[in-house]
Amino acid sequence: MINKDNNSKIDILSLTLDELTDVVSELGEKAFRAKQIFQWLHQKRVRTFDEMTNISAQFRAKLQDYFCIKSLFVCKRLESDNDNTVKYLYELEDGNHIESVLMEYNHGNTLCVSTQVGCKMGCRFCASTIAGFKRDLLASEILLQIYEAERDSGRHISGVVLMGIGEPLDNYDNVINFLTLLSCPEGANISLRHVSLSTCGLVPKIYELAKLKLGLTLSISLHAPDNKARSEIMPVNDRYDINELMKACHSYFETTGRRISFEYALIDDHNDSFEDAQKLAKLLKNFICHVNIIPVNKIKERNFKSDRKSAYRFQKYLDELGVNATVRRTLGADIDAACGQLRREYEI
Ligand code: SAH
Repeated sequence: MINKDNNSKIDILSLTLDELTDVVSELGEKAFRAKQIFQWLHQKRVRTFDEMTNISAQFRAKLQDYFCIKSLFVCKRLESDNDNTVKYLYELEDGNHIESVLMEYNHGNTLCVSTQVGCKMGCRFCASTIAGFKRDLLASEILLQIYEAERDSGRHISGVVLMGIGEPLDNYDNVINFLTLLSCPEGANISLRHVSLSTCGLVPKIYELAKLKLGLTLSISLHAPDNKARSEIMPVNDRYDINELMKACHSYFETTGRRISFEYALIDDHNDSFEDAQKLAKLLKNFICHVNIIPVNKIKERNFKSDRKSAYRFQKYLDELGVNATVRRTLGADIDAACGQLRREYEI
């Protein structure tokens, strides 16, 4: 569970309070010290051990020997003129880049975070996958996207969506660790009720996640109502087809009692007809869920397109068929706020 960097120092920001408590007692210190250190890191957000002034100089030196405090650097910041959306390009310590998007809603600020450097899933319409997969993010690197966005913007973040670069369920252990850290009362203390996790449909991991009963909202990137249309745009459908996926979704709902949200990126002439809406309605029949229609964001490497007018038309179809659906608000359209597009400019 404990991640070590090149110098074999322990990545302290990835340790849960329980793990930190164990390590601190191994080092011969009282358990309450772990809580103090945890609060310095996750609430006061210090970047050096020397700033932990209620810890003795001797123990701080020991901490310095055993642990490292990871950091992220704001490499580029794009601010929207239309709304309060801010897009961050972060540089990781190893020189890789990831993106986060800060969005303002009525109920507060939400950050869309990345979970991997690149992505293996290969969805045809997605910019995150084009440069390929580099590596998983550590729990600390997911968390730091929030800490740095708060520090940089001066805005308080109360919600998180795991919808940036990467497939969260393909980096399962680090993501679960991140969620534990995020919701810890001695840390950022963000309730998992304000967290959404989006997956392209890694079925075995959906069952695993259900067992944890975390209270977050699960979003499924469905994007097509039948196997043929889905396989054409999402290679993951050849591993876990729609039937298996829907079975996992029903089981998730039964286990957790949480309503699932289905993402549907509308693509002209691919999945936007009345017949598609009928198939979707049949698929979701008797299922307590919500469909989020997103006009596909144009990426320069592909020809897929759609617009808000088609999205509202498709919503009307679904409405007539009794399916609860909304068209996702477009935020930061002037800064290309869709994930993966900024990082692409930095990858050779
Ligand atoms: N890998 C996860 C989460 C990251 S993508 C997943 O697949 O769900 C977050 C959401 O953005 C997914 O629903 C994804 O399918 C969607 N998405 C990616 N590229 C898009 C684009 N060009 N237009 C609209 N939605 C897109």
